[in-house]
Amino acid sequence: MKNLVVLGSSGSIGKNALWVAKRFPEELNIFGLSVHSNISELAEQIKIYKPKIVCVSDSPSANEFASQAREFGVRLLSGGDGLEELASHPDANIVLNAVVGFAGLRATLAAASAGKRIALANKESMVAGGLLVNRAVQDSYAQLVPVDSEHSAIFQCLQAGLKDNVKRLILTSSGGPFREYPKEKFASITVEQALNHPTWKMGPKITIDSATLMNKGLEIIEAVYLFDMPPENIKVVIHPQSIVHSMVEFIDGSVIAQMSRPDMRIPIQYALFYPERRHLDVADISFDQKFSLDFYDPDETKFPSLRLAREAIKGGETAPAIFNAANEVAVDAFLSHRINFLEIFEAVECALNQTKIISADSVENVIIADKAGREVAQRFVVSRSV
Ligand code: NDP
Ligand code: MG
Repeated sequence: MKNLVVLGSSGSIGKNALWVAKRFPEELNIFGLSVHSNISELAEQIKIYKPKIVCVSDSPSANEFASQAREFGVRLLSGGDGLEELASHPDANIVLNAVVGFAGLRATLAAASAGKRIALANKESMVAGGLLVNRAVQDSYAQLVPVDSEHSAIFQCLQAGLKDNVKRLILTSSGGPFREYPKEKFASITVEQALNHPTWKMGPKITIDSATLMNKGLEIIEAVYLFDMPPENIKVVIHPQSIVHSMVEFIDGSVIAQMSRPDMRIPIQYALFYPERRHLDVADISFDQKFSLDFYDPDETKFPSLRLAREAIKGGETAPAIFNAANEVAVDAFLSHRINFLEIFEAVECALNQTKIISADSVENVIIADKAGREVAQRFVVSRSV
């Protein structure tokens, strides 16, 4: 029996993770849960899953929840410190980090330093603090298994050969809802349109990232750190059907792909049970009817996100943290109607150009860079919203 902690349990990935864990009660004990402020969802989850410890990272919400936690007989942690404590709890075996955004970094680092199996959905922590996360994982013999579907696919495909024989990684992208939308209309894209993803049902931040292809930019950087691969050996291809989740090309010209229906419960299950797999009651790919798989190059004139991500990784050190921070601010501003869709790219570019890159060898520096990137992006937002 393994003790599982789900950070961000009220979110899209968090709920899917609980769905998976619930199916294997002899193997997984739901030990800890965290939400930021959604305490009503947390209360429901406590009734169903009976965790021992919970964390409410938004402190006012934690105060509001204190008496309920006592009634449930569950230990309550709060704030970012509480999240770290839960992520590194001595009794926790697997930590699934499904927090959204940079807020997940400290928890990833805490779990890594405590030598846990980390099922990592929170890509922002790898983007902003990849060097630190890798160091902590190595030093503490932690195990990092990606949940992000593309990286889960690559992780699986890499097992078909030797690392030295890998030619390149091929990340697939659905292309998002604006794949065929004319660039001239980008400035007038509404929040509702952007939240309508063609193949995946996800939280709002990553849904906007998928519409701008910033998600694919973040995923290039995530892949650089997860698989120790230079960015020039990572190719992005548009694959609208979202059946091939990514591929690895080896030096002999063989390309290994991982396919499934687009369902996050599959990579979640894989990260929880790796190297084993478990039977999942989700739809299989049907080969009974004709279907086709398309692959083509992304239109980088329409979507500058991939270039920006490559620039961030080339800048090195804290440049990816700045890229991530500016994008978080820009997505927030777009969702609250303060900037338009095109200005998301501008905000990120502006922050990358104007924020000082510093050494990324300490979490303090990464936090400084994140803050600085946010400030520049915020100034950009203010300049556009007046
Ligand atoms: P959601 O927005 O659905 O959920 C986010 C979760 O994080 C919620 O539990 C939320 O709590 C919590 N949270 C929000 N802000 C904070 C904070 N400041 N500190 C601590 N916790 C916080 O996001 P998703 O589930 O869609 O995504 C989670 C992560 O997984 C992201 O990094 C995303 O990129 C990644 N991912 C998601 C995929 C998907 O299919 N959804 C696919 C691949 C990767 P509350 O509800 O209380 O606000
Ligand atoms: Mg992904």
